Amino acid sequence: MLSKSPEDVLIREADGTLKDAATRAHVFILSRSAFRSLQNTLYDKFTDAASLILYDMGEGYGGKLASGLLKRGLSLEETIKEVERLGYLAGWGREHFRILENAHAECVVKNSMFSLERKGLANSCFFLAGVFGGIWSAMHNNQQFFAKELECTVSGYDHCRFAIEERKLPNR
Ligand SMILES: [Zn+2]
Repeated sequence: MLSKSPEDVLIREADGTLKDAATRAHVFILSRSAFRSLQNTLYDKFTDAASLILYDMGEGYGGKLASGLLKRGLSLEETIKEVERLGYLAGWGREHFRILENAHAECVVKNSMFSLERKGLANSCFFLAGVFGGIWSAMHNNQQFFAKELECTVSGYDHCRFAIEERKLPNR
């Protein structure tokens, strides 16, 4: 269904700046095919290590995102809702988190922007997994969390599903 709320508006300024009306963030448009091309280049260059690079990139970003939301005084529940909302506004897909025992969680994502069909990859949304891991670690003081994608659209599922669990080094 097409959504036409004011939150969907992008503001284009004469100096070349593009802003998201909902968050006032300075943004740019990156197509799914462009991101796939970037990911393919990483895999061509670094093979399996590309997954780790993408995860770490996402983890760093997710940590900063959650820290910023928490500094605004949002509770954990509000932070999670805001992450879902921002992901939706940014076109990352439709995220739905479910909190489990011991601060563990599950997230189901419809239409993940970050999937990559590539030989040898049974799941592919490593950047997004990193974002979730970074968010969860930032939300829980001094506890490290890791997100693992269990189901991905590239393996035929109609969604991507992630488990977010306390990190038990050195597994990752
Ligand atoms: Zn996926």
